[in-house]
Amino acid sequence: MSDTPQETPDSPKPMPSPEEITRKLEDFIKNSLGGQVVFSRIEGHDLRSSPEAQDSIPQAEEEDASQAFDFKSKPADIKAYLDRFVIRQDEAKKVLATAVCDHYHHARMLRENRAQKGAQPLEFTKQNVIITGPTGVGKTYLVKHIADLIGVPFVKADATKFSETGYVGGDVDDLVRDLVAKANGNVELAEHGIIYLDEIDKLATGGEGRVGRDVSGRGVQTALLKLMEETEVALYAPNDIRSQMQMMFDTRKGRTGREVVNTRNILFIVSGAFSGLEKIIEKRQSKASIGFGAAMTEKPASDELLRQARTKDFIDYGFEAEFIGRLPVRVFCEALTADDLFQIMKNSEGSLIRQYEREFHAYGVRATFEDEALRAVAVTAAEEKTGARGLVTAWEKVLRDFKFELPSLGLPELIVNGDLVKDTGKALENCRVQALSLPAKVRHTEVHDFATQFAAAHGITLVFKEEVTLALQERAQREGCAVDTLCARLFKDFPFGLQLVARSTGQTIFDLTKESVEQPDQFLSNLVVSSYRQPEPTFTSDTYGS
Ligand code: ADP
Repeated sequence: MSDTPQETPDSPKPMPSPEEITRKLEDFIKNSLGGQVVFSRIEGHDLRSSPEAQDSIPQAEEEDASQAFDFKSKPADIKAYLDRFVIRQDEAKKVLATAVCDHYHHARMLRENRAQKGAQPLEFTKQNVIITGPTGVGKTYLVKHIADLIGVPFVKADATKFSETGYVGGDVDDLVRDLVAKANGNVELAEHGIIYLDEIDKLATGGEGRVGRDVSGRGVQTALLKLMEETEVALYAPNDIRSQMQMMFDTRKGRTGREVVNTRNILFIVSGAFSGLEKIIEKRQSKASIGFGAAMTEKPASDELLRQARTKDFIDYGFEAEFIGRLPVRVFCEALTADDLFQIMKNSEGSLIRQYEREFHAYGVRATFEDEALRAVAVTAAEEKTGARGLVTAWEKVLRDFKFELPSLGLPELIVNGDLVKDTGKALENCRVQALSLPAKVRHTEVHDFATQFAAAHGITLVFKEEVTLALQERAQREGCAVDTLCARLFKDFPFGLQLVARSTGQTIFDLTKESVEQPDQFLSNLVVSSYRQPEPTFTSDTYGS
């Protein structure tokens, strides 16, 4: 049946969309009540996004839900996957991987158990996790990659944005509704999602020696506690007009499915820097050692102290005992040293360096980052004390002018070495001089334009060294054609061939040689053949369906 029936003079007016009704109501309320009444919205998504998605919910729901329950991963598989992206944090990876596996295996067993008539109900204590650790060390990154890998809906929010009543800040129940939106309206899948709350430490009420958040912090803790235990959240927020409109809309369309979301199987992961917690732990430890003749040992570093956090320490910090009690799995993420930051750039699959290479590559420039440069930037970034986030700040400063000027200089290559990082002004000047000293016919030639277009169209960078450009120009002269026409003819099979190589080796930047000009087919076939001889990588993104 069509959503927009033909309008005739006799037929009733078609139902406006929820968006339209909301807009009209917003205007009406604003005009009659001023700014006192606020429309709360579910971030980023409508409950049931597009009309197409809405209509396909029933089948998708079944499929997605059975996928979530068909959980077969082992903790070591999850850790191996995380190792590809996250440097260090081994303990956190292990503990999180195990907690997530336990959680989803239980969820699957509970479901199977429910399906069996007369079976005894299974006991299940949720493995909610609390992660402590400084900013920028990979807490969100870890959780996001786990959610991606296992394919469950994932919602992240800062705990600071909620208030007890939901009037001033958001309502914690919105988190659950956000999960439903992330699951494209599939309530059953959302009921097995992950809610990740950062900055949870800001909910602490004035604990020992600290000025904490006022009573509303406690109120939010209580509201979250209910969600973490088990409660039913209305799918359509009762005090949100937009949500109510959606309900009317769904009812009119005959969709009278679930109206509540049960939070029993939603996994909660919370995190925070908990600055000052180490002092509470230290105090507890020094009290404990009095009278036992413990030798004065070296003062443990704050990382080491945070690792030893106990329930009582969190209570002293300003948390309700029940709240901390619902977070039985404790994980600590360590601060990152300059060497760790170097490893992140060098070895993480999500490395920022790959991103910069791609950015230059889009302009036909092959950027190479030498270790010396990575080390120098790692040291500067570590001084920022913002974990891996400092890397973006440090690189932005180094590369800012190169990103602006290089695309117009016509240089095929940029070598980012220690000298460049030390004196960017001088290095940029060298690039300008180098560009000027290129033979006029090599600079800004059609060859460079061809490489730029090739990169944009096929995602592959062809690097034409000076001798190769000259060889192309000579051959074009010999054959009496334009260089770009010659390139198009000689390299017509390169997009297909090089993409094959890229698929099996990951290589996307290719140095062309003089042979590629004289015998392009031979050159290409050598590349393809040798790429198939290379050993298969042990893990590919396909392995995990990410
Ligand atoms: P936080 O600990 O504050 O949640 P994030 O996980 O958001 O920090 O880290 C910010 C970014 O820094 C990530 O998106 C990722 O690119 C990078 N990053 C942080 N820690 C690591 C790590 N241990 N390994 C690899 N990359 C990391």
